[in-house]
Parts: sequence; structure tokens; C-alpha cells
Amino acid sequence: MTRKIDSRGLTVEESALRDLARDFFADKVAPLVPQLERDPSELIRPLFAEMGQLDLLGPNFPEAHGGGGGRLRTRAIVSEEAARVNAGLDISMFADVALFARCIDRLGTDEQKRTYLEPVLRGDKIGAMAITEPTGGSDALSPRSRARRTGSGWVLDAAKTFITNAPIADFIVLIARTSGENRQLHGGTWFILERGMPGLVQGPAFRKAGWKSSPTGEVTASSVTLDDTHVLGEPEEGFRYLVDSLDNERVLIGASALGLAQACLELSVRYARERVVFGQAIAGYQLIQDKIATMSAGIELGRTLVYSLLDRIDRGEKVTHQAAVAKLHATELAVQSALDTIQILGGAAYVDDHPATRFLHDAKLHEIGGGTTEIMKIIIARESLRSA
Ligand SMILES: Cc1cc2nc3c(=O)[nH]c(=O)nc-3n(C[C@H](O)[C@H](O)[C@H](O)COP(=O)(O)OP(=O)(O)OC[C@H]3O[C@@H](n4cnc5c(N)ncnc54)[C@H](O)[C@@H]3O)c2cc1C
Repeated sequence: MTRKIDSRGLTVEESALRDLARDFFADKVAPLVPQLERDPSELIRPLFAEMGQLDLLGPNFPEAHGGGGGRLRTRAIVSEEAARVNAGLDISMFADVALFARCIDRLGTDEQKRTYLEPVLRGDKIGAMAITEPTGGSDALSPRSRARRTGSGWVLDAAKTFITNAPIADFIVLIARTSGENRQLHGGTWFILERGMPGLVQGPAFRKAGWKSSPTGEVTASSVTLDDTHVLGEPEEGFRYLVDSLDNERVLIGASALGLAQACLELSVRYARERVVFGQAIAGYQLIQDKIATMSAGIELGRTLVYSLLDRIDRGEKVTHQAAVAKLHATELAVQSALDTIQILGGAAYVDDHPATRFLHDAKLHEIGGGTTEIMKIIIARESLRSA
């Protein structure tokens, strides 16, 4: 028997989690992908509830609040398996747990964790995080959304767009400027919004080019009144959490992109073995092998980097430079792998709704969301110029 060496160095428990996730996404999600891609709104909630029961939503959260007590890398393990089957669904999970739940876990009071974190980890409620505005996402410290203190609490006026899960979310964490000027680190405050609050509108799902299994939309708050129980973390210090959490988010997006690249590799290998051209399987042609080798090498390199960075983040290390490298590498790999998969499949892949075209549309967004490729390169250049 050949034993495959796993570059992630998983423990026995982590391997069991990978197997559980692999079976769940293969058995329960794969058959639903066409339906999810058409309209995810009705399917996500029951799927999240099942995932919650299997402890697939919060393997890296504290047991005291319903999590699995595992390392941050356990989220990456589940993410890779989810994205291997459907990258859009994985992004809805990412917004639910890696963005919303992590923010509550990091900044919330015990009461807020009981109210908002625990039901999300159980899969009973769905979360979202709203940062991006119609004026842009890259310059996240310059929101136009504002909240002002009143005698008894806060009044929020906000307009956010391209928010994953916004159309279906029960809870949303939203950042607004509460003092100071654009680009200032001081003066941002996180608010927890709940579906149905007077003045809160969660828009319908956009019709997107990719990530179709993940509903995306606008969040608008018009003079929403909030008491202090809806303030998350220290008022005025919200941008610090936003900046501090970017390393973690970028590496986890890297894991999702690697899952997608893995799906490309598997489809390419399967097809190349079967497709006979000029009397032999195309897997025998070196130009095809070159593409497969490039995908495989990129995935191995990416995994080695992603999992070691997640462990370093767990240890409290700052890994801004390397996190940008991981996101850049994994997301560019996913796009190139999807392009190469289409090339290997030839005309067969160039039809609507083919998995390979879905891979390409889904992969492309990884180069935009959570910090664009240009922003990753700016960080890498800045850190290199500073330290080299
Ligand atoms: C499907 C989807 C889901 C999303 N989910 C969420 C979510 O859940 N929550 C959330 O808050 N946001 C979300 N986003 C928003 C996402 O994070 C932003 O799209 C991203 O941050 C980029 O912002 P932007 O699209 O406004 O581009 P912009 O910031 O307007 O940038 C436009 C272009 O200019 C480039 N650019 C910007 N600054 C520089 C510079 N200094 N030098 C060189 N080039 C530069 C960018 O790289 C990009 O190519 C989502 C987006 C999509 C499409």
C-alpha cells in the first residue's frame, strides 16, 4: 500500500476531522451543487445546521462556547474540503465563522458570546461581517458609515456593499467611524446588528459571476438606534481589530483557494487519464504533465506555508508579510489551475455550468476579496524594502 505524505502534518484528531469533512461535503453537498449555484438562499441554513451538529463550523473555537477547542488550522482543514466541492459555500462559511464568529469570540463579552457566537457555531444562526462600502473596499479605514453617541446609546447610519451572507444573515458585525478622520487607526467602532432591527435593510442577493452558492448583498442602516449591548469591543478601537485580524483572514482565504486548486488538480488528472487523443491518453503528453506538476507543486508549497502560518498565528506571532505571500501564492495558483484545467479538458469544459468554468469564476474572486492581489504585492514590497 502506498502512503501519501501529508505536507500539513495533521494529528490523528485533525486527520479524523478532515475525513469527516471530506465525507460530509462529498455525500451531502456535492449532489446539491447545481441547486446551490442556482439559488443558495434556501439550502444554506439546513446545511449549516447539519455542519453545526457535526462540529464542522467551529472546530477552532473554545469548547466553553460550543467550539471544538482545536487549533486555527482546523478551520483550514474544513475549508479545504469544502472548497474542493464548492468554493462559494466555503466562502459563506468563512464569513459566518472566520469573520463574524471570530470577531465576537475575540472582542465580545461573555453575554455577547452566549447570544451571538454559540448559535452561530451550532448552525442555528448565520453571521456576516460588513466592512466594504460602495466607495471601495481596499481603503477600509475610510468608511463613510458613521455612528454617533446619544444619551442612551448610539445612532448608526451605514451603507455597506458586497457583504457575504447579507441577504440571509441573522447577525451582522459592522464597522463605522465614530470619530477621527479617514485613514486614522483610532475612531472605528464595531456594532452588532440583528435582522429586523428598525432602520436595517438587508438587500437581495446580487447576481454574480462566481461564488454563486454564497449570497452577497448590501446592508443599509438608516438611523438605527443601538444600546451599548450592541457595541462589540472597545469603542473607537475597532480598526485595530480589523487590521490585526487581516493576517488570519488572508491565510484562511489561502486555504480555501488551495481547496479549489485541489479540485482543479483532481478533475484534470481524472480527465487526462481517460481522454485518448492520437491513440493515447493525454496524461502521457509532457505538455499536459507540466500543467499537472505545476498545480501539484503549488498546492504542496501553499499547504506547507498556510499551515505553518496558522500555527504561528495561534502562537501570537505577527506574520503580515508571509500572510500576504500565502494569499498571493494560493489565489494566483487557484486561478492558473482553473485556467489549466479548462485547457486540459479542451472544448468539453467550455460550456455553461461545467465545474471547470465554475472553478475559474470562483478562483478569480479570491484575487479580489479579503485584500486584492495589488494590495498583497504592496505589503510584500513594503515589508521586503523595510527588512532586506
Ligand atoms: C462576492 C464578494 C463577496 C465579498 N464579501 C465581503 C464581505 O463579506 N465583507 C466585506 O466587508 N467585503 C466583502 N467583499 C468586498 C471585498 O473585500 C472587496 O471587493 C475588496 O476589498 C476590494 O475592494 P473593491 O472591490 O472596492 O476594490 P477597490 O478598493 O475599489 O480597488 C479597485 C482596484 O484598485 C486596486 N488598488 C486599490 N488601491 C491600490 C493601490 N494603492 N495601488 C495599486 N492598486 C490599488 C485594487 O487592487 C483593485 O484592483 C466581497 C466582495 C465580493 C466581490
